[in-house]
Amino acid sequence: MPLVHCPKCNKEEAIDKVLTAQSNQNIIYQCPHCAYLKRQIHTSKG
Ligand SMILES: [Zn+2]
Repeated sequence: MPLVHCPKCNKEEAIDKVLTAQSNQNIIYQCPHCAYLKRQIHTSKG
C-alpha cells in the first residue's frame, strides 16, 4: 500500500487509511495524527 505524507504534520500514513472516497466521487484526505482535512484530492489513480 502506498504511503502519503501529510502536508501539515508531515507524517506518513497508508493511503487507504487517510483517503475516503465518497458516493459523489469526492475524495477526502484526513490525517489521523493532526486532524488535517482536505477535500477533493486529485490522485494519479485511474
Ligand atoms: Zn497530519
